[in-house]
Amino acid sequence: MRAQAVPKFADEMLRRTSTQEDYRPRVIREASFMAARERLASLEPGGSAQYPMNVVSASQIEVRALSMPCLRCDGPYRLDEHTAEQFGRRQIRVIREHCGHCGARRTVFFQVAPEFVQ
Ligand SMILES: [Zn+2]
Repeated sequence: MRAQAVPKFADEMLRRTSTQEDYRPRVIREASFMAARERLASLEPGGSAQYPMNVVSASQIEVRALSMPCLRCDGPYRLDEHTAEQFGRRQIRVIREHCGHCGARRTVFFQVAPEFVQ
């Protein structure tokens, strides 16, 4: 009888695990909340050409841009375009990306400026 207790317990564990895997957390957000989040992001470093995110080297740009979670659903971004654009005297790297889950687009601005990175 003791030998049977072990498989029963294992069964229970398996059932619990599969239940957890079936569960898909869904993030339901209101349009006003998402708009506020996008507005906030536009004020943060990287949100505009006037206020780019500073990086030590160009190789960090795509890594940083793609590691950000989607503002709408926290999904992963996919790279659309990486360009270098001139804004006044500064050369700004512009990353255009979209969310692989919800398709929301985002543009992030970077500046290669090792002296400004702490
Ligand atoms: Zn998304």
